[in-house]
Amino acid sequence: MEKRRRSSGHGVGRRDFFRTAGAGLVASGLPLTADSAASAPPPAPSVRFAPSGGLLRISANLYLLRDTCNVYVLKDRDHAVLVDFGSGHVLTLLGSIGVSKVDAILHTHHHRDQAQGHLRAAAERIPIHVPAHERHLFEDAENFWRNRRVFHLYRVCNDFFTLTRNVRVAGVLRDYESFRFGPYELLIYPTPGHTLGSISLVGTVDGRKVAFSGDLIHSPGKVVNLYELQYDYGDAAGVDFAIFSLTRLRELKPELVCPSHGEPFADPDAGMAQLVDRMKGWYESYSPGSRLTVENRPFAVTPHLVCSHQTTSSFYALISDSGKALFVDYGSASGNYFNQFNAAAPVDERMRFVEHTIPELRARHGLRSVEVAMPSHMHDDHLNGFPHLVRHHGAKIWCFENMVDVLQKPRGHNLGCILAEPIRVDRSFRHGERFRWEEFEFTVMHSPGHTEYQMALLAEIDGARVAFTGDALFPAAAGAPYQLRHNLIYRNWVENDSHLRSMKAILDYQPTLVAPGHGKPFLANQADLQELQERLTKQQDYFRSVIADRDCDFGLNPSWARLYPYQLEVTPGGSTALELRVRNYRTAPMRVEAALVLPPGWKAQPETASLTVPAKGDGAFAFTITVPASWDGTKPRVAVAADLVADGEYLGEIAEGVVDLARG
Ligand SMILES: [Zn+2]
Ligand SMILES: [Zn+2]
Ligand SMILES: [Zn+2]
Repeated sequence: MEKRRRSSGHGVGRRDFFRTAGAGLVASGLPLTADSAASAPPPAPSVRFAPSGGLLRISANLYLLRDTCNVYVLKDRDHAVLVDFGSGHVLTLLGSIGVSKVDAILHTHHHRDQAQGHLRAAAERIPIHVPAHERHLFEDAENFWRNRRVFHLYRVCNDFFTLTRNVRVAGVLRDYESFRFGPYELLIYPTPGHTLGSISLVGTVDGRKVAFSGDLIHSPGKVVNLYELQYDYGDAAGVDFAIFSLTRLRELKPELVCPSHGEPFADPDAGMAQLVDRMKGWYESYSPGSRLTVENRPFAVTPHLVCSHQTTSSFYALISDSGKALFVDYGSASGNYFNQFNAAAPVDERMRFVEHTIPELRARHGLRSVEVAMPSHMHDDHLNGFPHLVRHHGAKIWCFENMVDVLQKPRGHNLGCILAEPIRVDRSFRHGERFRWEEFEFTVMHSPGHTEYQMALLAEIDGARVAFTGDALFPAAAGAPYQLRHNLIYRNWVENDSHLRSMKAILDYQPTLVAPGHGKPFLANQADLQELQERLTKQQDYFRSVIADRDCDFGLNPSWARLYPYQLEVTPGGSTALELRVRNYRTAPMRVEAALVLPPGWKAQPETASLTVPAKGDGAFAFTITVPASWDGTKPRVAVAADLVADGEYLGEIAEGVVDLARG
């Protein structure tokens, strides 16, 4: 941050400040929670310092106050919207420019210097709008501090610059949507880098296209600091992000950049390009061999099939002669994007997604529209971009039938790599079903193993027999005594013959080209595929030899007895349905008795239940649970369990779920 001389308001000297530090917090009574803020505005805190200058006029309706950050005032007659808020001192100055009402505060990111005056805004009931992917760092800041690791610190990301108290959030600013105020329409543009959730706001003000860019750029060729651009020990991911964000922001051709620190500057393109060049030069010397996300390029595998393999998962665009595309998968822009946004996502929300590759597909591969997107499997690294394709490209979502519920009700399941956002499915396909799209014919096959929720999509494209195989198989590492490898993730629902069934479906098709979910497509060699099949047969022997239960699937699948939905939501005072689902791997029917184990005061109906689950089949118990209206609001998420007896053997509380208590 830039250091600026602060005048000490109200005659409080430096000594007094240290003696009374914290008094303002105590004076406001109970900790400010979103709930308490709803009932009564908190008293405005005592103010100790204030910026020395006043409002500067940038253009007819745009003003700047140099506070702990730059606070921009966007005026419409006697109303205003503020971009960032600093100490809140701006509120004492607005009368001088004829503003009587602040309609909203819009934050570019969550840092304390951007928002530390939020209690003054709350006292005047000014609605605070925050970037969608930093919402939790405003309204759940106190919880952030309870969980932020300080010892054994490798996540060195400076989220330590998070606010100390919860902020009541009135609205969220969602990427690629707009915020409208009077004659202004501000595009909410994702510009991660300085923070992972940072946005820029871009729109026309007084005849000029203005970008309120937060701390993406300080001044031509410069950033305010570099330490915000490091998230993990020794990494340079934030530099990669800043370069990508600046490159995308340049494409919008702003005429004036209004940064959070530094001076507003006109004709910013050269200054942004200079910053990109400087950071690129350093990145390439610091991380030789690692590729910048902005340099990822898709390539044509055949005339109609384009592959992007440098993104976090590979995705494929099958582009018909009409220019319409069917995407197989569409995940994050790069490994950096996936890993960092994943690490930063709160427990109840999806990770961030930033659009990529589509401009290149349009410019170089004849893409006109994205008509359909199909996930090879339900993993977030493969379909993270699907909600964006639906919202901003009008794409339809098609998938294999067993993925429908996972996509539409992600809270139902506890499997590896579920995307938190529900995705509505427009069409689903059965095992072995054929369909036509544009000039291409497809067959969908169930392809379990990597996950139960995976398909193999088979199609003849430009004379090649292509198998889109998701994460079923990959080329082996150099030095391995074989050519192909698979992987095994028990949480993804694996049974002893899952991988084998998948390999059989792929081998039967006799593909000439395998298009995997990571890495480049490769020529299919039948001998190599058969060799993998033999190893998968041996894997079954291994399972049977080391798992104690005679039906080894009980030792492979942690979810054979499970609660559905796994993440339940209920309002205190309300009731909801909960199922215990059981897969019986025995060759004989299984008698199961069950009871729910709930927090004190909660009721289950029935209290105990019993059921015979058919051999090699499924069964479900239906329960209703009721939560007392007096439920303690300080426990917003609790665990519940199911206690089980199977064929007379008491297994205990082997299934569980979590319950989120919605605010009534
Ligand atoms: Zn900042
Ligand atoms: Zn996967
Ligand atoms: Zn994957």
